[in-house]
Amino acid sequence: MAGLALTDVSKRFGSVSAVDGVSLTVPEGTFVCLLGPSGCGKTTLMRMIAGLEDPTSGEIALNGERLNDIPAHKRDLGMVFQSLALFPHLSVGENIAYPLAIRGRSKVDIGARVNELLDMVQLPGVADRSITQLSGGQRQRVAIARALAVSPRLFLLDEPLSALDAKLREAMQVELRQLQQRLGITTIVVTHDQREAMSMSDEIVVMSAGRIQQMAPPIDMYRKPANPFVADFLGQANLLMLRGVHGGAECSAGLISDLDLPAGETRQISVRPEDVAVAPGDAGPIKAKVSFVREMGATIEIHLTAGSERIIAATSPKAHPDCRIGDEVSVTIPAEACVVFDKQEA
Ligand code: ATP
Repeated sequence: MAGLALTDVSKRFGSVSAVDGVSLTVPEGTFVCLLGPSGCGKTTLMRMIAGLEDPTSGEIALNGERLNDIPAHKRDLGMVFQSLALFPHLSVGENIAYPLAIRGRSKVDIGARVNELLDMVQLPGVADRSITQLSGGQRQRVAIARALAVSPRLFLLDEPLSALDAKLREAMQVELRQLQQRLGITTIVVTHDQREAMSMSDEIVVMSAGRIQQMAPPIDMYRKPANPFVADFLGQANLLMLRGVHGGAECSAGLISDLDLPAGETRQISVRPEDVAVAPGDAGPIKAKVSFVREMGATIEIHLTAGSERIIAATSPKAHPDCRIGDEVSVTIPAEACVVFDKQEA
């Protein structure tokens, strides 16, 4: 099969189970983000793919070839780490040339390739500069160019953008994605930043405690999270406990009409803030009080207390120009916006 395939891969460090039975396939040419909280095993999984760590069990294959017994330097991968690991005493050009030189390429070939790579990462004409003369974003591009110098079969990046400030980081997310699409290279990025994962990936893999919680295209995962952990980790989620009643399901503060739950059964649901409608007065199905208003520019977040529940609504500021803490409001949650979790996931 073309692409990367992991079959039941586990890694233990003594009594710590860092990665626990992970199976996934990354089709050739796709961009996948490994996303999860600190300590969930993303870096360990990436290091096993790279050959920097041996799996305790399981198989890793690239384009049908088993990688387990192939050492890191023979796997034909390009890697970028958070630290970038550039050589500060070498020039930009020498840094990019390094992997080509150790493979014995001729000087003429190397010179042409370095220029081509610098053009590719939009840094033309800086080959002779010192690494120390570059900005954070420029160093990032040099590290990417060096990793891609030998046209690897797989491109691995571990928290590549986390050292950059917010604005530059967003710009680099777009650049990295465009570059990947242009080259069509299979790419895996480790990140703990859900916005980064949402904006760059073909597919996101959410991990927790060494296991995959869900693998799906970003918008599918956002709309249909597999469990409360994924709902809460990817974007904001209102997680509510509901009980099935005649005509819908109720929480402690009111009713979600037409939500299909067997009467008397209790389930956890997730609803996104932008799907929660807020109106003045107490005529609606769920009565609530405004506890906090967060102005975000393009959107406004209205934090609500409804019975024992806390609910966040996100909307346009124009729709709620006079919203104040302490206002009594009514909340409507459409049944079709609710994701109802299975019993064991609640
Ligand atoms: P972060 O985002 O903080 O880098 P992560 O999701 O990448 O976290 P890992 O670094 O893969 O997580 O770590 C997973 C688990 O394995 C953690 O409990 C960590 O302490 C443990 N671990 C990782 N490397 C080693 C090691 N070399 N020796 C012992 N335990 C380790």
